[in-house]
Amino acid sequence: MKVAVVKETGPAERRVALVPEAVVKLRAAGLEVLIETGAGDGAYFSDESFSEAGASIVTADQVSAADVILMVGRPDAEQIGRLRSGQAVFGLLTPLTSPELAGQLAATGATAVSLDLIPRTLSRAQPMDALSSQANIAGYKAVLIAAAAFGRFFPLLITAAGTARPAKVLILGTGVAGLQAIGTARRLGAVVSAYDVRPETKTEVSSLGGTFIELTSVGPAAGSGGYARALTDSERAAQQAELAGHIARHDVVITTAQVPGRRPPLLVTGDALKAMAAGSVVVDIGASALGGNVEGSVPGETIITENGVTIIGAQNLPSTMAAAASAMYARNISSLLLYLVKDGVLTLDMEDELAAGVVVTRNGSVVHPALAEPPAAAD
Ligand code: NAD
Repeated sequence: MKVAVVKETGPAERRVALVPEAVVKLRAAGLEVLIETGAGDGAYFSDESFSEAGASIVTADQVSAADVILMVGRPDAEQIGRLRSGQAVFGLLTPLTSPELAGQLAATGATAVSLDLIPRTLSRAQPMDALSSQANIAGYKAVLIAAAAFGRFFPLLITAAGTARPAKVLILGTGVAGLQAIGTARRLGAVVSAYDVRPETKTEVSSLGGTFIELTSVGPAAGSGGYARALTDSERAAQQAELAGHIARHDVVITTAQVPGRRPPLLVTGDALKAMAAGSVVVDIGASALGGNVEGSVPGETIITENGVTIIGAQNLPSTMAAAASAMYARNISSLLLYLVKDGVLTLDMEDELAAGVVVTRNGSVVHPALAEPPAAAD
């Protein structure tokens, strides 16, 4: 079976789906590996390093010869145009937020497998959990970006030239990215508070040295599969108003809140930003074209408000640490691939919860149950 890695074409995407170490593992499992020339350049993995690991370096056209195509993001129109029946494509396809992509993939006849749909609560799926591996990186990097933009120290510093108080950092959303952000901000010496609509995260926050903030106006809002549910309009308004008071008391706010298949919830309103002190920094990991957790945040842009608050709209933070992110992603995608390959052939047992969870299209149809439901409503 031939497995190919394409060069990513997404905006600001530097990651690559396999790294040489993973090529060695797939070769040992009897798979042939093709790498599109230059696919690893953005993450500092050269064509030569892939060749030495046993891969063949090929052109974009030659990738079409592969049985399975591995990627980080989604295929672009040209890559979709090259897909064919009998072929499979693996990536973070995020079909729930763009169901039209699933239709386009189905029309090619190819099998589409999306790593963001892995049932994460299955213990056998943990090595394949790319959402977690990439969220960890995003949480870590968001804190470094915030610290770099903040005009004061994160730690308590006592020097002959005076004493600096530690920065007060607030993390909103304490899933994988939020917990990593808490740990990273604590390691830099900040005093950290955190909030999530899932109060069960309180113990994790405390164990990392953070203080969990409980809101009196909003009750727990856990959904299914360990995720949060979307709040109602009145819950959302109450949450925004109560959070504003906490936000105003912090120097740095990092937002990581997500609800699967929906636009990120708005947590930091324009009024909350106006109440922050000049010099405060807000990093919105959830910034997206659909909107983010922070009013006015724009992906990839830094905005300074009239009252001197810096709002950083993060854009693809894992890509900014492409070497580490690719190494982790390569482990995730190769674990999933090897799990689905039996006797050298991709074998999808749709009775298996894991396999059924990740397959989006097959034999010309969209087969994932979540995509048979009506498209996600706006938040
Ligand atoms: P996510 O990226 O979907 O969301 C990030 C956080 O935002 C979540 O903690 C969520 O509760 C929070 N959130 C959503 N709406 C909010 C709002 N209005 N206000 C405040 N916070 C809000 O989450 P994730 O990081 O992908 O993790 C989701 C869950 O999956 C967690 O419980 C995590 O522990 C769990 N998980 C389990 C496994 C496993 O069992 N092996 C693996 C990975 C993740």
